[in-house]
Amino acid sequence: MKRDSHLVVLLLLVIGCSLASLTVWKVLASRERALEEVNVHGLNLTQALATYSEGIVRQSSLLLLGLVERLETEGSGPAQIQRLTALVERQEPLMPQLSGITIYDTQGRWLMSSNRPIPAGANSSDRVYFIHHRDDPSRETFIGPPIQSRSNQEWVITVSRRFNGPDGEFAGVVAVTLGVENFLRLFGKIDVGQEGAIGLSYTDGTLLVRYPFREQDMGRNFSKSPIYAKYLVDRSVGTASFTSSLDGVERLYAFRKSDRLPLITTVALGKREALAAWRMEALLSAVVVTGLLGLTGLIGWFLILDIRRRTAAEDQLRGAQQQLLSSNRQLELLAMKDALTGLANRRWFDESLAMEARRAQRDGTTLALLMIDIDYFKRFNDAFGHVAGDACLQRVGRILEACVRRPSDLVARYGGEEMGIIMPDTDSDGAAVVAQLILDRLQQEHIAHDTSPFGRLSVSIGLATASGSRLDSVQGLIEMADQALYSAKAQGRNRFVRGSSESESG
Ligand code: GH3
Ligand code: MG
Ligand code: MG
Repeated sequence: MKRDSHLVVLLLLVIGCSLASLTVWKVLASRERALEEVNVHGLNLTQALATYSEGIVRQSSLLLLGLVERLETEGSGPAQIQRLTALVERQEPLMPQLSGITIYDTQGRWLMSSNRPIPAGANSSDRVYFIHHRDDPSRETFIGPPIQSRSNQEWVITVSRRFNGPDGEFAGVVAVTLGVENFLRLFGKIDVGQEGAIGLSYTDGTLLVRYPFREQDMGRNFSKSPIYAKYLVDRSVGTASFTSSLDGVERLYAFRKSDRLPLITTVALGKREALAAWRMEALLSAVVVTGLLGLTGLIGWFLILDIRRRTAAEDQLRGAQQQLLSSNRQLELLAMKDALTGLANRRWFDESLAMEARRAQRDGTTLALLMIDIDYFKRFNDAFGHVAGDACLQRVGRILEACVRRPSDLVARYGGEEMGIIMPDTDSDGAAVVAQLILDRLQQEHIAHDTSPFGRLSVSIGLATASGSRLDSVQGLIEMADQALYSAKAQGRNRFVRGSSESESG
């Protein structure tokens, strides 16, 4: 039972530990999965956004290429500018992302602008893109840092090309301005949560567009950010997770460098936000599992209590059973004993004699029996009274017990003042020794008996032994001993006599 309750505790522990570790493992795995999904989602978004941004820049670049071609072949005189204005007017509706197209002369003066009217004295010779083309003979498209338009104060990104004169000298710049607003409109349609952000930057880390829009970040250089300083060094696409040094928010970043253009698209999602659903699920799992564990523990506890209760009841029952058994044994013993002398009673004597006779027969040994009768006991009673007679019987019983030494010997009260001694595996001479010892002891004890001719208490003993087939009838052995006893009485008492087949002695 104690083992049962230990087993229940062990079972509960195994169930509890497995359930808890399984839950922890599942929750951690689902966190990994959630993060992975966010990364995949972010990478897909950067792909879509990069394609969009690249498309606009490439379209602008193509448009510029056409204009440069015309300017270089036809020149930039008023008539030509007029024709180009008409051409641009036709092109503009095809590219809604375009904020404007402007042509500058060698001094940065505006020769033409789709955003008419041209402000008086407008000059862009201080703009980064103008300085770049003026000083750099490269014919490549240049993507400039975001600037605030002089015509409408709007934030724009410039995509520009240089055009040359007939001798290859610098003749001016054609620039397309792309409204940051247009990008923000698209980026704004994408759900990046409260802490998320979408960014389009130049490869040197200059921020071109950021959603959500933050004026102070426009044109800012982020080359120190881990994305540029660490991740983009050896990769063009990837994901990263770090805490922003600007606002202290941990974000999951997906970044992608354009294959053909010096552009980088980044999508950032707040890690806390991205894991909100997972956190909810983990919390729910934890609550359910804790509940289950609690319930299992409760059931287990009741089970253990029940087992303990049953164990206690069983212990009690076993104790009672033991008590009953020992009481029974005592009763049995009492039933086999003579109440007055404490010697074996007649029943025990009969059973023991039958058993020892069978054993002697089986083993081929000799069984000896002494029948002892107190001499002149009636007179003793008459002289001293029955109480003294009883005490005398008890005393004789103790003397007889003291005369037999083997544990297998049995001294019994046969009836009245007559006793019997069963001695297994004892021949006639051995039994005679015991009989003589009894007579001698009684003489030594000298129990006063004035009305006996001996002046003291004495006994007469009939001795009988038998072995083999003569043991078929136990009654025969008793009769033989009785006969011998009778002879002892007849011969004057205070002696022992061997049975008819024995020779007399003592
Ligand atoms: P004998 O020498 O021939 O044996 O003479 P006896 O007087 O002993 O023989 P008898 O059989 O005539 O008497 C036996 C007496 O033993 C009768 C009875 O008073 C006494 N007696 C038997 N059982 C008890 C007993 O339990 N207690 C007492 N006090 N006396 C008993
Ligand atoms: Mg008698
Ligand atoms: Mg007698």
